[in-house]
Amino acid sequence: MNANREERYEGYYGGIHPIEYKELSDSISVVRFPDPLNVVIPMSQHAGAPAEPIVEVGQQVKMGQKIAAAKGPISSAIHASVSGTVVAIEPRLHTVSGLETLAIVIQSDGKNTLDESVKPAGELDNLSPDEIIEIVREKGIVGMGGAGFPTAVKLKSPKPIELVLLNGCECEPILTADHQVLLDYADDVIYGLKAMMKASGAPKGVIAIEDNKQDAVELLQAKTADIENIEIVVAKTKYPQGAEKMLIKRVMGKQVPSGGLPMDVGAIVCNVSTAKAISDAIQIGMPLIERVVTVSGERMNKPGNYLVKVGTSVKDIISHCGDVKGDDVTVKIGGPMMGFKVENLNVPMLKCSNGIIAIETIVKEAVECIKCGRCADVCPMELRPLYYTKYALSEDWEGMKTQNVMDCIECGCCEYICSSKIPIVERIKIGKTAIREGK
Ligand code: SF4
Ligand code: SF4
Repeated sequence: MNANREERYEGYYGGIHPIEYKELSDSISVVRFPDPLNVVIPMSQHAGAPAEPIVEVGQQVKMGQKIAAAKGPISSAIHASVSGTVVAIEPRLHTVSGLETLAIVIQSDGKNTLDESVKPAGELDNLSPDEIIEIVREKGIVGMGGAGFPTAVKLKSPKPIELVLLNGCECEPILTADHQVLLDYADDVIYGLKAMMKASGAPKGVIAIEDNKQDAVELLQAKTADIENIEIVVAKTKYPQGAEKMLIKRVMGKQVPSGGLPMDVGAIVCNVSTAKAISDAIQIGMPLIERVVTVSGERMNKPGNYLVKVGTSVKDIISHCGDVKGDDVTVKIGGPMMGFKVENLNVPMLKCSNGIIAIETIVKEAVECIKCGRCADVCPMELRPLYYTKYALSEDWEGMKTQNVMDCIECGCCEYICSSKIPIVERIKIGKTAIREGK
């Protein structure tokens, strides 16, 4: 009993221990995915306003060339991931929303001719904080852990920052892309962290890694041993450790206030892949046009970790990996807990797509809530999810609001543990949408 209680409070309240299935791909090094014949690049692959195309149909573009400009303060520039010809600028099916959204389609010439803008920015020591932030903005860097928040906006914090916290936890089951980034690009991750510290004025940097990645822990510890202001924090494996509020609690012992942001407690949290992208932007001048992606799951024939160009078709990637096994398969972009189910595989990989997984379809027959309280035991935000299931059924949005549903991070822990197999997250999302629409 005491052990259970201790576990519940380990690092932060709640959380779960789902089966990881990381062994399917965690010892497979990153391989470059064959170049696609054409890429579909959506204008909306970040938080905030969609980017605006600055090229025309028929125009020749080079790899790394800016093809769409950020529109407004929270937005991001977008670049060509191949060289070739713009063959369409039209609505295409979006990977996450499943809706038609504007995209630029480029037919590759197979040459990967580099744009003249792709050149090193000079020594980090010689760059000012504002120059670093401008490079991050211009090169279209966004959070690569899933949310796609423009990184330059985070770095230009109106509040003082005491810590840049790199998230190398990768707490979602099955995914191993960040683990491989830590192993294969450790120097770039450290360089990116130093750049973020300089840009934000943070005196300290931490790379947090879960204890199920001992090889990465040892490598990063060895590489940072002589760097005084960078520390490797080893966190006991528990989902959702990588959620920024949990990670801040675990590493800094601080609570981000309800409705607040990491900067309110002096922190910037970024994914390790984002740090690697910042390193590429400064050291090579390469914008965010490719990323490491895990292709795995017990229903994927040939799991692996691939360096994939933004805009590559999910269908082509799955075919390349030997297709899926069986008929009762669910394909998700992202991990099994927070990933998005994709019905139509003719959608492109985005800057923030960290995985394609094929898993067994599980049909759950929900029954009535038995008020066991297990959902509240595991909720890392210390909410009471059982109320959301009840209020959603009676469309009592005010009741949901009173129970702080807007603080829910949609981690899925409550649904995973629910004795009555209730689709709690679905009901929470309906409630949040109703509240946002003022119902
Ligand atoms: S999905 Fe929301 S309510 Fe459920 S455990 Fe996660 S934070 Fe709590
Ligand atoms: S875990 Fe499920 S059944 Fe138990 S209290 Fe929560 S919602 Fe009800």
